[in-house]
Amino acid sequence: MPLTLTRPDLQRQHNFIANAWHDATDGRLLPVSDPATDTVFAHVPDSAAADARAAVDAAHAAFPAWRALTGRERAQYLKRWHALILAYQDDLGRLISREQGKPLAEGRGEVLYAASYVEWFAEEAARSHGEVIPEPVRGRKMLMVKEPVGVVAAITPWNFPAAMIARKIAPALAAGCTVVAKPAEDTPLTSLALVRLAEEAGLPAGVLNMVTASRERAAEVVDVWLADSRVRKITFTGSTPVGKHLVRESAATLKRVSMELGGNAPFIVFEDADLDAAVAGLMAAKFRNGGQTCVCPNRVFVHDAVHYDFVARLSARVAALKVGPASAPDSQIGPMINARAVDKIAAHVADAVERGACVVTGGERLAALGANYFAPTILVGVDAGMRCTQEETFGPVVPVTRFEHEDEVVAAANDTPFGLAAYFYTRDMARAWRVADRLESGIVGINEGALAAEVAPFGGIKESGYGREGSRHGLDDYTQMKYLCQGGLG
Ligand code: NAP
Repeated sequence: MPLTLTRPDLQRQHNFIANAWHDATDGRLLPVSDPATDTVFAHVPDSAAADARAAVDAAHAAFPAWRALTGRERAQYLKRWHALILAYQDDLGRLISREQGKPLAEGRGEVLYAASYVEWFAEEAARSHGEVIPEPVRGRKMLMVKEPVGVVAAITPWNFPAAMIARKIAPALAAGCTVVAKPAEDTPLTSLALVRLAEEAGLPAGVLNMVTASRERAAEVVDVWLADSRVRKITFTGSTPVGKHLVRESAATLKRVSMELGGNAPFIVFEDADLDAAVAGLMAAKFRNGGQTCVCPNRVFVHDAVHYDFVARLSARVAALKVGPASAPDSQIGPMINARAVDKIAAHVADAVERGACVVTGGERLAALGANYFAPTILVGVDAGMRCTQEETFGPVVPVTRFEHEDEVVAAANDTPFGLAAYFYTRDMARAWRVADRLESGIVGINEGALAAEVAPFGGIKESGYGREGSRHGLDDYTQMKYLCQGGLG
């Protein structure tokens, strides 16, 4: 099935600044390739500092008029954008699958997921309530109102090119902020297509601006935004080292920051778990996007008493997964994003085996399919010293560790600097509340493997970051409080 678009003009190849499509000022280009074949199929601007500055100029100029609209007026733009995203779900899904590699059904699913945030924040735009504060002395009225923080810089990763951008742009626009955005080097086209649809939704000039850049020039673009005091907030999704760098650099102008960073999710199967449900939950959580998600289980702990049974049931499912290009209708696991990603996965598996782990299924590159494919893999006999438990593998690898006691496994699950998602399966209600309470994680799945939803607060603790996307709290990240006090009232 070719991943061609019914509306080829959705494949934009320019920066979007002040409602006009531009080349990079110095004309440099960034090639975009299909990870299934490593062939280049598009070019976008490889932007420089001047482009980043022009985007801020536009966003800053647009801010007063945009913030002056009512929430309901801003919602109308978001609703039109939402309708257009749904109308072009198939084209957007194809674009995601082509540049990112996930199977087509997942690409289409990501579009719906992205659209759900746009709809949610269109609804929330009118609900940015303040507070009336009971005055402690007579003769005063006190209240708190929320106002937009100003120009927001949004920087996103490649693994969900539609959802990550929608989760930031929709609340920012709803709150009354204007936006400058930079998508990841590997996946600029989906983000530009979403911007094209926002343009069609009639968004005023300068409210949303996007520049694309190569990995080599990402810092040049983002450094401009970090240094510019007109940019009042940085919202970032990506790796923890880059997030820490952005936090450090944004301190010079004391910007607000939201950081959705890396994870190292534990997945615990207790001896009383419904094993079929646990296997189904792990399959959903682990193999979505080929294991390239921040919330995917990276360490699987299985109780001694059910270890053999669980691994047998899991390996039957994993061995049956169909690996192939996104364009093949029966593919369940696509290529990894690039050669660096496959090298890291292979290195993690080799390290685990060298230190005593055993491969139950998979464990190797699938070179016959292409350079970026890796077989869905189960490792048993994994321990805490191995790279695959210390770092995000970001691939289709399930490392299984045995445990005996609840205290021991909770301590092991928490023994990481990260705290984004955690999962466990049990039928014991008392244990469910006890373990949920003790897990150091921003998101906890109890007998559930699919957690993300626009209605819920998504985000981490510890070195997985701060700030929340989605839910009614998602809007707060883009607003600041203003306290008003009127005196002389008798
Ligand atoms: P990344 O390397 O940190 O890149 C993320 C974004 O930052 C990209 O746009 C990247 O541009 C840009 N960037 C890289 N270096 C930069 C620098 N020095 N200055 C400014 N910008 C810079 O992360 P990734 O590999 O794309 O994504 C995978 C990571 O994201 C994983 O750790 C995953 O867990 C995390 N993630 C977290 C969440 C969450 O919600 N918590 C969701 C999804 C992913 P280039 O693409 O050009 O390098």
